[in-house]
Amino acid sequence: MRILITGAAGFLGSHLCDRFLAEGHTVIGLDNFITGNPDNIAHLTGHERFSFVRHNISNYTYIAGELDGILHFASPASPIDYLEHPIATLKVGSLGTHNALGLAKAKGARFFLASTSEVYGDPLVHPQTESYWGNVNPIGPRGVYDEAKRFAEAMTMAYHRAHGVDTRIIRIFNTYGPRMRPNDGRVVSNFIVQALKGEPLTMYGDGNQTRSFCYVEDEVDGIYRLFMHGDAQPTNIGNPNEFTVRQLAEIVLEITGSRSQIVSRPLPEDDPKVRQPDISRARRMLGWEPKIDLREGVRRTVEHFRSVVR
Ligand code: UDP
Repeated sequence: MRILITGAAGFLGSHLCDRFLAEGHTVIGLDNFITGNPDNIAHLTGHERFSFVRHNISNYTYIAGELDGILHFASPASPIDYLEHPIATLKVGSLGTHNALGLAKAKGARFFLASTSEVYGDPLVHPQTESYWGNVNPIGPRGVYDEAKRFAEAMTMAYHRAHGVDTRIIRIFNTYGPRMRPNDGRVVSNFIVQALKGEPLTMYGDGNQTRSFCYVEDEVDGIYRLFMHGDAQPTNIGNPNEFTVRQLAEIVLEITGSRSQIVSRPLPEDDPKVRQPDISRARRMLGWEPKIDLREGVRRTVEHFRSVVR
């Protein structure tokens, strides 16, 4: 297949480029480097089935030749990033999704939307099933991301229903692993970098809020299977093992052997109190479930950050 991946220089986008190339496909990567990093795809330079376009998908996009699939992964995705780029975040979820869908329709390509567990907001249903409509504050600081992704889902379903585009919607839960930026701001990368530098681990609030962390290799496998074998209904892909943020801090200290302290910092506004995917649908439809537990994933991520952090 000939595949376009938006956000190709990002954390997930770059791992997806690797996976699609490894499966024998041809990949066109697209990124404007607003949060993506050229280093993430530097190893693909000169690959005979890989090419790259520097472009903002929120603007009109032309790609020559046939396309069989478009994976729309472009977006700031870390809370600190979408707070710094609120309008670009809204635009890439809305205008960017519209452009990518228009391209998919014109090319007769399958369209795959990277959506998020953030569509569930601060959830009142736990764990979250795909049938839950969410509890989102549209005008809060996280609204720029949450509502952009909710709009993107609505637009994707509209192109599916009105134009018959073959579409997929994945709801990605917290994912971590090599190629996260050291200053990404997400909790796993923050804690690992802080532990390796001997700095205090910044636990927001009382640390009793929960997240369920999926190692990137498992997430990418779920994405690939959903792209190949899924249907148009939204699908949760994430690791259902739930941890408090405090537990994560303790695991990071244990694995790094760091003697850093854990310090408390104010909880960001609208920070979800709990998050855990119900992955029954992915298990049933795709035969997918994560294989790498948190300790093993953190071990591998720590190895990566040891070579990046000094
Ligand atoms: N968090 C934390 N310390 C940090 C960064 C994040 O305690 O240095 C908390 C944050 O408040 C949230 C959880 O860790 O409750 C996950 O945050 P992250 O930014 O990784 O992603 P989110 O799931 O909130 O989008």
